[in-house]
Amino acid sequence: MFEKILIANRGEIALRIQRACRAMGIKTVAVYSEADSEAKYVKLADESVCIGPAPVALSYLNIPAIISAAEVTDAEAVHPGYGFLAENADFAERVEKSGFVFIGPRPETIRLMGDKVSAKNAMKSAGVPCVPGSDGALPEDIDSIKKIVREIGYPVIIKASGGGGGRGMRVVHTEAALSNAVIMTRNEAQAAFGNPVVYAEKYLENPRHIEFQLFMDEHGNVVHLGERDCSMQRRHQKILEEAPAPGISESVRNKIGEQCKKACREIGYRGAGTFEFLYEKGEFYFIEMNTRIQVEHPLTEFITGFDLIQAQISVAAGGMLPFKQEDIEFEGHAIECRITAEDPYKLTPSAGRITQYHAPGGPGVRVDSHVYHNYMVPPFYDSMIGKIITYGDTRAQAVARMRIALSEMVVQGIKTNIPLHLDLLTDATFLNGQFSIHYLEHKLALHNQQATD
Ligand code: ADP
Repeated sequence: MFEKILIANRGEIALRIQRACRAMGIKTVAVYSEADSEAKYVKLADESVCIGPAPVALSYLNIPAIISAAEVTDAEAVHPGYGFLAENADFAERVEKSGFVFIGPRPETIRLMGDKVSAKNAMKSAGVPCVPGSDGALPEDIDSIKKIVREIGYPVIIKASGGGGGRGMRVVHTEAALSNAVIMTRNEAQAAFGNPVVYAEKYLENPRHIEFQLFMDEHGNVVHLGERDCSMQRRHQKILEEAPAPGISESVRNKIGEQCKKACREIGYRGAGTFEFLYEKGEFYFIEMNTRIQVEHPLTEFITGFDLIQAQISVAAGGMLPFKQEDIEFEGHAIECRITAEDPYKLTPSAGRITQYHAPGGPGVRVDSHVYHNYMVPPFYDSMIGKIITYGDTRAQAVARMRIALSEMVVQGIKTNIPLHLDLLTDATFLNGQFSIHYLEHKLALHNQQATD
């Protein structure tokens, strides 16, 4: 096992990884930007290294600074968390070439799955069902594009092959709008991801977002840990998630889980990974794979009882997966609310000092957050200030516990989306589990319209 791990991230996930390391008796190195120097998890780390000023390009994305922090502290492995460099194959490669272990898949796997066109091709050949669409990248010539899209049938979604974080996507309903949409998505993709390749997919009108958690070690053992429903989204970003997904039977779970396991074997996967699907009219369609731990991993930890970060570390150290498929039983129901520093309905960011803070607790309540009384939410990073996860024997109990938890929670000095979550937790459509990925956008639009009427 490793003696010391460098955590190349910030915020709640940096703290979450630190806790897993401490539980395993592993020393930690925190890296931080000048904006995060006062954070408590930085002080709790065995060692800490400032890697640059607040802007991410100069700190959390600054590969040479992170590698030299690992060198000066003599860390053995690097955990990238999620976001930032977690799915950057060049970073993984630099980490390994510098003699450290990257806690994640091999760089070539990250590269293969990070490019959505090559990922979809790999999944198709592994027999995983995909959203119908163009056979790879769209060509340059607009007449050929029109022909391809006519065959798929409108509406379609034009997506950047290098896209991520809900960006680089455009829905097209008519041929008249096609050319412009392709050009704009290409330009944005070039600017944001340095890769102008785009492809077309059938736009599913009312799907749910359901994803499967997979894990594979270097000894050929692979398991699936069931699914999570992440349909409550705004701006293509998840806000409230749950596991298991309402209405998914054990046989369907096992069928898709087995397909994902087969795909992991074919691509020689290593560590934790998530297969994301859209689910409509009883069918699953693969959209992408995330080759890292996800924000919503605590849901799976609650319903399986396993610690996924500790499992990532064990597998990266060359160990066997700490669980076999037959050990995994799904029990109860878990819900996660992402707490963001923003206006709950207008979604405008709300950085600043937290003048009053009180975290909820009680049976089945987990709080993963790095913030505290008097914490300054910096304006430079993602707006998520933490996650509340609740567990119950039933979905109704998990929902009831979440309502109580959020009603106990106090965050003053900044705006948060707690009122929106409380609103969702009494929403009839949410309660009956029959919502698609568009539900929250409709709800927000309705609320904002009523507010201006
Ligand atoms: P990202 O990598 O940016 O997260 P994804 O491919 O995972 O992009 O898609 C993010 C979200 O966009 C999905 O959860 C879904 O809400 C929406 N989306 C993506 N592809 C489609 C599609 N073919 N039809 C309908 N919605 C889609």
